[in-house]
Amino acid sequence: MKYQGTVLGVVAMTFVFGVAVATSVPAASLTTPDNFDADVQIVAGGAQSFDAVEGAGPAVSRDAYTINTPTPTPTPTPTPKAVTAASQGGYGGAQCQAGSDAAPEATAFSWPYPDGFRMSDGFGPRAEGFHKGVDMLNAPGVPVHAIADGVVIAASGDGGTGGVYLSIAHKVEGQAVCSMYMHFQTDSLTVGVGDGVTAGQVIGLTGRTGNATTEHTHFELYGSDGVRYDPMPFMTAHAG
Ligand SMILES: [Zn+2]
Repeated sequence: MKYQGTVLGVVAMTFVFGVAVATSVPAASLTTPDNFDADVQIVAGGAQSFDAVEGAGPAVSRDAYTINTPTPTPTPTPTPKAVTAASQGGYGGAQCQAGSDAAPEATAFSWPYPDGFRMSDGFGPRAEGFHKGVDMLNAPGVPVHAIADGVVIAASGDGGTGGVYLSIAHKVEGQAVCSMYMHFQTDSLTVGVGDGVTAGQVIGLTGRTGNATTEHTHFELYGSDGVRYDPMPFMTAHAG
């Protein structure tokens, strides 16, 4: 109780003191002899009337003080490059089938790198887990090509472990075949979800975005069940 009483007392004293100062300092006393002339008095009067105008709704009182407090300008929050928000479409079996249904029958095929590439990790088990595609090494910036006519079903401008990626649905002898390409260079994608592509069309540039230790394209093939399979036999059979 003692402590509370003390605090209240201080608050009360502060209030009284504040009132005393406010009421005992007339505007005129703020002027100095140097500027004690007509012009300055007009300025002082203007300042007072400005307060009144500013407080023109509620009375010029404690409320006016609140109103006169400058409203902090909200600092615009920089839009983060959200990884998930950048991903569009999907690369599961259902999306593959739907995209394939909208794609023309593929009549020509191309390797992602028609001029060749160096293969590192193949499809299958490896130390870090099952590798669901093949890693095609190439120099930074080398164009990546669509393997066949089709429709883009998934794309990401930054992505997660896959980095900048694309997935394209194709129709091969009536069956859904979907290709997936990961680790493109940032801002290098030339197509987006819903776009039609043709066999051999450049879809982006070789990069190392996402979980990649060197420039390469992680390439996958899958069908309407969404299960990835070794793309090499298919590619060799169709693209030569
Ligand atoms: Zn890979």
